[in-house]
This record gives sequence, C-alpha cells and structure tokens, in this order.
Amino acid sequence: MLTDQQQELLESAAEMLYGLIHARYIVTARGLAAMLEKFKSCDFNRCPRVLCEGQACLPVGTSDIPGQSTVKVFCPKCDDIYYPRSEYQCSIDGAYFGTTFPHLMLMTYPMYRPPKSSDVYVPRVFGFKMHPSAYGNREIAPPRHPQRRAPPNNNDSRQRSQNPNNNDDDDSL
Ligand SMILES: [Zn+2]
Repeated sequence: MLTDQQQELLESAAEMLYGLIHARYIVTARGLAAMLEKFKSCDFNRCPRVLCEGQACLPVGTSDIPGQSTVKVFCPKCDDIYYPRSEYQCSIDGAYFGTTFPHLMLMTYPMYRPPKSSDVYVPRVFGFKMHPSAYGNREIAPPRHPQRRAPPNNNDSRQRSQNPNNNDDDDSL
C-alpha cells in the first residue's frame, strides 16, 4: 500500500513518462499522420495574429527537457510562437511535444505548409506612418551621430561608410 506522498510521486512520474512517450510518438510516421488530422480539423487553435487570417497552429515546445517551459503554439504562416488560448493547454509541459514536431510534420507533409505571410501591420497616427523616433525613445531611434559613439580605434574606411547615413539622419530629424 502506497502512502499519499508515494502515490503523488508515482502519478507525477507516470505523467512525465507518458508525456515523453507522447513527444517521441508524434515524430513517428504514425504519430505525424495522427497529428496531421488534428491540424486539419484545427484542434490546436488558430494563430491570434490578424494578418495570418485564422491559420491553424501546431503545438511546439521551446525545450526538449521537462520542467523548462509550457507548451506553445506555432503558426506556420508567420513562423512565430504564441501562448495557447486555453488555460488547460497553458499548463502542459512543452517537452511533451518537443521542439521538432511541427517542423518535421510540415517537412513530411509540405502540401499543408501555408504560404508565408508577407503582410506587415503598419501603425498609423491620423493616417500617417510613424517615424522610428516617434516615441521619443533614443534607444529605438536611429542614432544621429553614430561615429561619436564608435570606439577610438575605429578605422577611416568605416567612418567614411557611416557618414552618408549620418547626413540622411540629420535631414530627416
Ligand atoms: Zn501567424
């Protein structure tokens, strides 16, 4: 008879074992085929990015080591990862899916790889595109005089190549 503590340990070890077997299974031929069906029926939800127009996502881990991070969803249209929408999915270990699965699946079934999203959202204020310095943040804005920050051993050719850029910056700012 197991104590409560032993039972708890046993259950968490069993869960990890099952998860790691799952991660191994979904990169086998049968596992990839089974996951493709889930992908086609959008079981892993859609990309939250508006310009991806509801592209179906695939689960992915950011580490293959258990206990590092929870599972994320990968969008094959924008090539980015997001937090899953459901709280339940947010608590699943990412290693139970692994870092390889979605990419191997799309290599195995390239016909299901969507065309990459080339649309980029452009922030506008009263219809005008925003200049990089619009937030007044010097870290984001291009430096006005990069040669002043250059190390003292900077050679002449590099300074010459930077000069045209500096002039452009001065004109625009
Ligand atoms: Zn996307």
